[in-house]
Amino acid sequence: MTDIAIPISASNLTDAKAQVELAITASPDILELRTDYLQNLTADMLDELLAFTASKNQPVIVTCRDPRQGGQNDYPLDLRIAILTRAASAGADFIDCEYENYRNEDTFAAIRQALSSSNTRLILSAHDFSGCFKDLGALYEEMLAADPEAIHKLVYTPAHINDCFQAFKLLKNKRSDAIVLAMGPHGVITRILAKKLGAFLTFASLDEIAETAPGQIAIQTLKSLYRWDNITPNTRLFGVIGNPVAHSLSPAIFNACFDKQGIDALYLPILLAGEGDQFDSFIENVIDAEMDFHGFSVTIPHKAHALDYVERKGDYLEQLAADIGAVNTLKIGFDRIVSGYNTDYAGAMDAIESALAVGKHSLHSVDVAIIGAGGVARALVAGLSDVGASITIYNRTLEKAKSLAEEFNCKYAPLPKAHETNARLIVNCTSIGMHPNVEDSPLPQETIKPGTAVFDTVYNPLKTKLLQYAEQQNAKTINGAEMFIRQAMAQFKIFLAKDADENQIRKTILKNLL
Ligand code: NAP
Repeated sequence: MTDIAIPISASNLTDAKAQVELAITASPDILELRTDYLQNLTADMLDELLAFTASKNQPVIVTCRDPRQGGQNDYPLDLRIAILTRAASAGADFIDCEYENYRNEDTFAAIRQALSSSNTRLILSAHDFSGCFKDLGALYEEMLAADPEAIHKLVYTPAHINDCFQAFKLLKNKRSDAIVLAMGPHGVITRILAKKLGAFLTFASLDEIAETAPGQIAIQTLKSLYRWDNITPNTRLFGVIGNPVAHSLSPAIFNACFDKQGIDALYLPILLAGEGDQFDSFIENVIDAEMDFHGFSVTIPHKAHALDYVERKGDYLEQLAADIGAVNTLKIGFDRIVSGYNTDYAGAMDAIESALAVGKHSLHSVDVAIIGAGGVARALVAGLSDVGASITIYNRTLEKAKSLAEEFNCKYAPLPKAHETNARLIVNCTSIGMHPNVEDSPLPQETIKPGTAVFDTVYNPLKTKLLQYAEQQNAKTINGAEMFIRQAMAQFKIFLAKDADENQIRKTILKNLL
């Protein structure tokens, strides 16, 4: 069992009690009383707070953090140790003492003395707020030797997600109760995967703004979005690799499907900074770590890196992904085999066919205007030229339109020329009209003729300005969510060889976009 602890970090007792009351409503396993946050701290204040939490039957860790390791107020060592020993004699479940201070002879003697006459357990902790420990494994061994019975807590600050793998390795090989976490945006997955790897606990914040360490996840998010209670050592892992990635709807969509369909799997946001080299290292770390990672969705800016990786080191590359020049789906198979696919294409083509109620061959010779020449435009152009549509690409940067057009043997023109299009199918593949610029449209209303079909790949908002114009002109409309849903369903099938619950995906998207 891995517990969830919520830190209580108030500057006075009244606020601390209010935080305790609020935290309890989220059903944490433990509260961490960060007494270093209390102003003018005294032992009496600790007693009052402990009596209050005891009256709520709430297990607690008492911490009075050294300012050199993230403590809030600059209290002297004597007072900090007096607080911890008093907490032990008052029956606190855990006290947290920094390993660095525990090595001090007097501190060691005082803590050992207090623990000898109580049931309190010691958490020995080490923090690095500026980077990674020089040698995480060696520090753990040192702390283990110093006190084999303690719970060993090591917390550091990764500069990149690749720095998280040392935490995973340590948790997999631990020989004691251990807490190993990486702070900040690059360490978020260590807080979630703590459960799979059998850490003693993870820390969660009361809400999105109450974190006491950077990167802490709100307890409700941990429980609902990441399905904390369902994570087991055997849980299969998936995720979306991107930068940025926090806004991605994919974790909500996939985790809701796993929940609804009773699948023991977890989908994570993977913030991967850097370029191809860091991407390669990440995939290699994933494979070497043997942590049950089975597949990834890949988004901006890594689709070309994923293609490149599979071309050089992978086992199978879908031909269409090679033609499009982008991989948005990676499958990690048995025997560490990595294969690459592109489901943006299938998602877009499915969305068009189903909205127009035509088979893809009915698009043969149909005039299509593609607005944009980026990654999504490439997928659309590849798909539509595959079925023989007659395509004109319009783009702000004409050079990009020209090069895409030459590759797929289509026409091209500068963006303003799109206002004169008579195409029967118009597809917006730019970000024009995307939240927050919801009043923008790549085309004026009068360009759209009745009976035309207009597909906006933008899905936030669902009904863009362009689609509002199209409705007013009695044109058929296809929104970006249709493509998004279908590409996610195609990924689900690649990942798990089974169909996703389409209704669940629709429900999740609507809930998150409205
Ligand atoms: P991308 O590779 O960065 O390409 C962006 C395209 O938009 C380029 O053609 C760019 O023109 C054009 N553009 C951007 N801002 C513009 C502006 N202010 N005026 C004129 N043109 C502008 O991005 P992408 O991956 O193709 O994604 C494009 C859009 O597709 C996204 O914004 C998203 O809304 C949508 N999308 C939808 C799905 C889905 O499943 N429905 C999936 C992914 C993306 P230049 O070449 O001149 O820069």
